[in-house]
Amino acid sequence: MSDDVYEVHAVRYGHHDRRSPENFLGGDPHDILQPPDFYVWAVVNEARTFVVDTGFDAAMAQRRKRDLIKPVGEGLQALGIKAESVKDVIVTHLHYDHTGNYDLFPRARYHLQDVEMAYATGRCMCHAHLRMPFEADDVVAMVRKIFTGRVVFHDGDDEPAPGITVHRIGGHSKGLQSVRVKTRRGYVVLASDATHLYQHIDEGRVFPITYNVGDVLEGYETIKRLATSRDHIVPGHDPKVMERYPPARAGLEGWIVRLDADPIRRNG
Ligand SMILES: [Zn+2]
Ligand SMILES: [Zn+2]
Repeated sequence: MSDDVYEVHAVRYGHHDRRSPENFLGGDPHDILQPPDFYVWAVVNEARTFVVDTGFDAAMAQRRKRDLIKPVGEGLQALGIKAESVKDVIVTHLHYDHTGNYDLFPRARYHLQDVEMAYATGRCMCHAHLRMPFEADDVVAMVRKIFTGRVVFHDGDDEPAPGITVHRIGGHSKGLQSVRVKTRRGYVVLASDATHLYQHIDEGRVFPITYNVGDVLEGYETIKRLATSRDHIVPGHDPKVMERYPPARAGLEGWIVRLDADPIRRNG
């Protein structure tokens, strides 16, 4: 495999029972159970390993009343990735479910958008509504990493490594970035919370936690442009990801799937 082509894994670590009206701005007429899953992603080839987002830990799960299914470190270990030797972590945004476990990767540099750091430390955090998905300790942990030379800032589109690009989308969080990865089946886009569920991008609907609705909707177009096809877009919290892709190996069903493998075709 050439060194700019990667395997991509979704590692499911958490779950939250929630009804569908809570997933859409303006609610949802079908008031059904529509619980999100929580993921981190691993981008791997022989030359390098990138972890995308760091999830939350058991203490945060308890505090936020979410279910921690398997600790993030355990999921990575199942893939043969030792957290302590990971050199690069891309943080899509600084919400509690994407940037916790902040001591898990002691040797990593953290790739973050300028705007996200400014947003999470600036005047917008004076507003309880906007700071709700952030945890002060997570943000402070990132500030400390800046002061030990462990944060790499990106401003818009950038290429942290050959075959891996970051793209500022904004919208859901002001400096949210999605990650595009070159794989054997084309360009896969780890949208993260640029689209929580397939339904958001497919139906042009918006998740209620939003900094700027216009940027969310424009972001859908950007993501569609970046991905080789609709089947190459990976939403940040959709449980369907676990059904659509094959397990990384036998025994990892419902926990870790291969996103660089073709989606599984099922009737209906
Ligand atoms: Zn988020
Ligand atoms: Zn999220």
